[in-house]
Amino acid sequence: MEIRTNYSVKNLNSFSIDAETKYFIEINSEKDIYDFINTEKFKNEELIILGGGNNILFTKNFSGIILHPNIKSISIEFENSDYAIVKAGAAEDWDSFVEWTVNQNFAGIENLSSIPGTVGASPVQNIGAYGVEVKDLITKIDAFNLETGELKTFSNNECNFSYRNSIFKEKFKNKYLITYVYFKLYKNPEFKIHYGDIKNELLKYKELNLKSLRQAIINIRDSKLPKPEKIPNAGSFFKNPIVNKSKFKKLKAEFPEIVSYKIDEYNFKLAAGWLIDFLGWKGKVIGNAGVHDKQALVLINKNNASGLEIIDLAHEIKKSVFDKFGIDLEFEVNIV
Ligand SMILES: Cc1cc2nc3c(=O)[nH]c(=O)nc-3n(C[C@H](O)[C@H](O)[C@H](O)COP(=O)(O)OP(=O)(O)OC[C@H]3O[C@@H](n4cnc5c(N)ncnc54)[C@H](O)[C@@H]3O)c2cc1C
Repeated sequence: MEIRTNYSVKNLNSFSIDAETKYFIEINSEKDIYDFINTEKFKNEELIILGGGNNILFTKNFSGIILHPNIKSISIEFENSDYAIVKAGAAEDWDSFVEWTVNQNFAGIENLSSIPGTVGASPVQNIGAYGVEVKDLITKIDAFNLETGELKTFSNNECNFSYRNSIFKEKFKNKYLITYVYFKLYKNPEFKIHYGDIKNELLKYKELNLKSLRQAIINIRDSKLPKPEKIPNAGSFFKNPIVNKSKFKKLKAEFPEIVSYKIDEYNFKLAAGWLIDFLGWKGKVIGNAGVHDKQALVLINKNNASGLEIIDLAHEIKKSVFDKFGIDLEFEVNIV
């Protein structure tokens, strides 16, 4: 276990916020978890788990412990002619893992290419893109209870997955450290190409296979989303809100252009980006924080912004959406 004190996490969050944590502890093995739990001076400290920092906003220094898992490995646990069960360590880079699965010809997560972050964080908010959610490929998760040290294997069902959510983002947030995630990946791919611009982008390729689909997704994302290395951001700042049918009908009557997706007979998901764009926020800059000029859902650190400047902007957007549409947007990003 490697312990650093008064450590800046500027290089470990995609908003590039220069915040310090009292302790920064790297967890390299299961033994490190036990050592950590049994260290008396850490017992009453507040604690957060930090993967790659691509879904987190630091609004101030943190006077507790940041645990940073550094457990790596990828192995095939089981294989038959239809599928493979693959076990991946929490600290594996998500997109490198997707690339590895594509190179093995294992299908399932190719549409989740190019999402920045680690394997261990992927179940936390049930990452999703282009018609795929990671929950549909996860069979189980190994995680340590950070109070008792008990190792628990969560079945898919026990993770309470839903849209951008799971038990690890709610009840067990910062309570369980995920060490390994198990994926069921398929040998006969069912390509999901009916979302966004995928079909158009695929016209550039001779053949539809896992590699061309992955590349198409990467190209589309590169053309739309700012790279945090160039423009610090954490992807979508807000979740797409879900409204009931009567609310949806009222909104549709007043705003016929509203972008929505029918979830079922009673519920509709609205594109938060459309609501924000409608109110003229796209490209707006307040102080050192701003809204990306191509994607209204993405807040950016324009010029060494503090976390407070970014959260203030987020609250202003939230208020204006509420005032106009009566919708209370939820943050997708974790706020510290
Ligand atoms: C440019 C950009 C594009 C994005 N696009 C998408 C997208 O298309 N779809 C999507 O769903 N997300 C997207 N995101 C959000 C982000 O990529 C994901 O949420 C990703 O899973 C974050 O991984 P991370 O390792 O950086 O997690 P962090 O930001 O480090 O952590 C996120 C949360 O997970 C918890 N956590 C992390 N690791 C563990 C662990 N081992 N055990 C327990 N808890 C843990 C943290 O405590 C925190 O609450 C995007 C972000 C960016 C910057």
